[in-house]
Amino acid sequence: MSWHNAKVERARQIGGWFCEDCGETLTPMTAVGHHERYRRNGGKSEARNCRLRCGSCEQHDPHTNKSRQKKIGQSETRAWKYYCQHGRLPRWR
Ligand SMILES: [Zn+2]
Repeated sequence: MSWHNAKVERARQIGGWFCEDCGETLTPMTAVGHHERYRRNGGKSEARNCRLRCGSCEQHDPHTNKSRQKKIGQSETRAWKYYCQHGRLPRWR
């Protein structure tokens, strides 16, 4: 699935084109697809990993804040490593 298709699918799931953070109305042109799980962490370009955002929310993404990233980190990282290797989440999760 292309990232664009993921965004279209996401918009369909949430019932329209709007920023999921601030609610601003968007269009397919202005919507920024945010990888909920970063690609480098095994996030896939698909609707369930996609969050629609306006440009300004994407810019103020707390994920870009390193200390917060560390906090979310550890336990999730383990699960996602497993997910990448096995293509499914581990049972203990
Ligand atoms: Zn926004």
